[in-house]
Amino acid sequence: MRENYLPYGKQWLDEDDINAVVEVLKSDYLTTGPKIAEFEKAFAQYVNAKFAVAISNGTAALHAACYAAGIQAGDEVITTPITFAASANAVLYCGGTPIFADIDAATYNIDPVEIRKKITDRTKAIIPVHFTGQPCDMDEVGRIAKEYNLLVIEDAAHAVGAEYKDRLIGCISDMTTFSFHPVKHITTGEGGMITTNNEALYQKLLLFRSHGITRDKNLMLDCQGPWYYEQLELGYNYRMTDIQAALGLSQLSKLDKFLQRRREIAATYTEAFKDMAALITPFQQDSGNSSWHLYVIQLGLEKLRCGRKEVFEELLQENIGVNVHYIPVYKHPYYQQNGYQDVQCGHSERLYNRIISLPIFPKMTDQDVQDVIESVKKVLERNEQ
Ligand SMILES: *Cc1c(COP(=O)(O)O)cnc(C)c1O
Repeated sequence: MRENYLPYGKQWLDEDDINAVVEVLKSDYLTTGPKIAEFEKAFAQYVNAKFAVAISNGTAALHAACYAAGIQAGDEVITTPITFAASANAVLYCGGTPIFADIDAATYNIDPVEIRKKITDRTKAIIPVHFTGQPCDMDEVGRIAKEYNLLVIEDAAHAVGAEYKDRLIGCISDMTTFSFHPVKHITTGEGGMITTNNEALYQKLLLFRSHGITRDKNLMLDCQGPWYYEQLELGYNYRMTDIQAALGLSQLSKLDKFLQRRREIAATYTEAFKDMAALITPFQQDSGNSSWHLYVIQLGLEKLRCGRKEVFEELLQENIGVNVHYIPVYKHPYYQQNGYQDVQCGHSERLYNRIISLPIFPKMTDQDVQDVIESVKKVLERNEQ
């Protein structure tokens, strides 16, 4: 058993990241300075999108995207239950109604067939989530959106650097949102980004990030002098600081290295677990190249004498920082108490009862990876029927 606790995810910061931050601290601009535009430009270029808007966190990115999409009271937005609550909460922030469409049992991503079943004349948008970093079936999601005139907001908090067919996630749909929380691929402490190819949406996102205020003469109704600005909409202060943007830029330069290491760790796990009777490794579609934010194993409970809880607790005792992603969003008390008590997504609920997320982050050593493999094998073999 390991001496020390291995978390499921963690940042990787070097001296040059720290120096980038210190440089901003010594400069004139801590916020709303040049590093924001620099980070946005570099990020947009990376994912091959026309525009990028840096924002205070991934949840604010989703909120801004829902706002720019025009979501309001009476509108329905279809998303997956197997996600972090923020994907659905962003719809509620705008007064809209999240509608949950069940996942595909093989990929764990939202199932386009289920999306179609949930469409009504109130449906306004779809929020597919690239769970664990494996891209959703974007061709089919795009076809549905076109057919019913819906906007698509990809929640790519897990999917920086993930590829769908020949494109990087971030340039495909109307808007794509990212998170730079420390467990994600690159970090700014807290932070997020929205990418889009649509200039009108881009302008909305900029306004929303900063109180709905503009100094752009082309947008203002009046101009009374050099001091003048106008609040055109009700926005928020969701700005990212230049301190964070500098860290983001520095981290972005290492993203390819981080991705390569995540993919390597995932491949090592999948190879090590391939003949285990009570463990199902993550199925990967040929159309995608996952960014491997998470490595989620599914337990073959029929082959075990115990449940998921016991396996989870025994792995924790081995000092392996396991986790469960996710509790189906509508099962949370807030949703249960606010109209979702009758929602049932069978595949999502079944999956929730059988999954465990194993540690995966670029700074893991080969020994860390072997420790996880040994502990998983030991715990499962001990509990096999
Ligand atoms: C992390 C995450 C978010 C929220 O990002 P924050 O930066 O923590 O606000 C949203 N959706 C998913 C799927 C996430 O994993």
